[in-house]
Amino acid sequence: MRITQSVRNLTPYVPGEQPKDAHVVKLNTNENPYLPSPKCATVLRKFDLDRLRRYPDPVFTSLRARIADIWNTTPDRVFVGNGSDEILTLAARAFVEDDEAIGSLSPSYSLYMTLAAIRNVGYTPTPLKDDFSWNGRIVTRNPRTALFLLTNPNAPTGTFSPIDKVARAARPFKGVMLVDEAYADFANGNAMPLATATDNRNVIVMRTLSKSFSLAGLRVGYCVGPADLIEALYKVKDSYNADAVAQAVALAALNDLPWMRANVAKVRKTRARVAKALARRGWDVPVSESNFLFARPAHKPAKEIFEALRDEHVYVRYFPGPRTGDRLRITIGTDEQMDVFLAAVARLDR
Ligand code: PMP
Repeated sequence: MRITQSVRNLTPYVPGEQPKDAHVVKLNTNENPYLPSPKCATVLRKFDLDRLRRYPDPVFTSLRARIADIWNTTPDRVFVGNGSDEILTLAARAFVEDDEAIGSLSPSYSLYMTLAAIRNVGYTPTPLKDDFSWNGRIVTRNPRTALFLLTNPNAPTGTFSPIDKVARAARPFKGVMLVDEAYADFANGNAMPLATATDNRNVIVMRTLSKSFSLAGLRVGYCVGPADLIEALYKVKDSYNADAVAQAVALAALNDLPWMRANVAKVRKTRARVAKALARRGWDVPVSESNFLFARPAHKPAKEIFEALRDEHVYVRYFPGPRTGDRLRITIGTDEQMDVFLAAVARLDR
């Protein structure tokens, strides 16, 4: 057989469903229910076709400069990926030897384990406590954990660790800590000051435009970190990993932060309302600093409710497994969508 053994044995990551039916209340992939900035529409409308004839800027100069400006750092500390998922793949390529391991919180974003399997290296989980909080330590058993992927706020739990805890864990850690801040715009804090600090040697903070900026279809993520680590990512990337349209539209979005912040404020308000409504029904709802809730139903098994909701065209996410199988991950949609969800729950969970 021509397929390598590690790929033959691989359990691929399965992203949430993308149903074609427009009537589905889609609360399953943590997308933003609101439109991206109208400035993105203007860029798309005016986009010069001649720019598609030529290759894009391989090092996304304008986009990097804007990101550096936002975080008060320099462009040599900024990298842009084809979605933040690509940055994870590149980090696994650049920072992990064949006999080392990738680590993450557990439960967390299940792609990390798949990335380790694709890279054919070990995966070492750092288990969260029963309430899904983190004790602030990284498990670095044999083989050595060379890359620790800290999702903060964590997914699918929504729980958040303050910057001091992140800093205390990063300082003694011998490997690279990549803080995956896909959901940080929905939280009350972030670790970006660790990434931009001049004495930082091992912390990379990663963001995506897929959630708070409502641009999941565009595929743009970025990260900030020490210049030598950032340079390593440039060395292992494809020549043109960010296409010309993505660079231009992402720049427009990053030039309209008030639009993003207004959408985030709406999502946070809805999040508080839905969390309260579910708690009133007896559901267990850990405090979420993200754009989703990870809630345990009061009466029926989570899987049963997941399937019943699906029959009613309300899609949420269900992750089987010992730590996650008794809960549903519910993306925060518009108030109207959440009312449909809550009404269905009131009927189904009794
Ligand atoms: N990190 C986390 C924790 C996520 O949930 C996601 C979205 N599935 C990503 C990274 C990837 O986001 P994207 O590739 O769209 O930037």
